[in-house]
Amino acid sequence: MSERIPAGDFDVWLAGMQAALRGQADSDVPCGSCTACCTSSQFVHIEPDEHDVLAVIPPELLFPAPGQPSGHVLMGYDQDGHCPMFVDGRCSIYEKRPRTCRVYDCRLFAAVGRVNEATPLVAARIEAWEFTYADDDSRRRADAISEAGRLP
Ligand code: SF4
Repeated sequence: MSERIPAGDFDVWLAGMQAALRGQADSDVPCGSCTACCTSSQFVHIEPDEHDVLAVIPPELLFPAPGQPSGHVLMGYDQDGHCPMFVDGRCSIYEKRPRTCRVYDCRLFAAVGRVNEATPLVAARIEAWEFTYADDDSRRRADAISEAGRLP
C-alpha cells in the first residue's frame, strides 16, 4: 500500500467541510507540497459576485459557464492541464482565489467514497488520506457517509 497521509480527525474535518460548503469558512487542507488539483485539467467555476477574483483574472481566460445564468464563468487550463493562474509552482492569486478553490477539499472524495470521480492525480492523493476517529460513534458516522455517498 502507498504511503498514508494524515487527514486529521474525521469529525473536526466534517464540521469544517460543512461550514465551507455553507460559505462560512474556507477549507483548510493540509496539502503540503501537493498541487494536484491545480494541475489536473480542471475547470474553475466563478460566480458573478466574486468581484475581487474577476478583477485579477484576465478576461480572455474566462468563458460563459454552460447551463448557468448569465455572469457565471469558467476558467480553463493551459496545454499542460495547469490552471493559468498557477505560476512557478504556486497559485499566483492565492489571496483572491475563486470560491471554488477556497471550498475545494479533496478529502471530501475520500469521505464519500467517490475516488473514481476525481482526476488521476487527485485520486492518488485521495487514496492516501487517512482519517482518525475519536470513538466508535465517529467511525460509524464516517461509515454511514461513505455508504450514502454524500454528507449529511
Ligand atoms: S489535490 Fe487535495 S491535497 Fe492536493 S492540492 Fe488539491 S486539495 Fe490539496
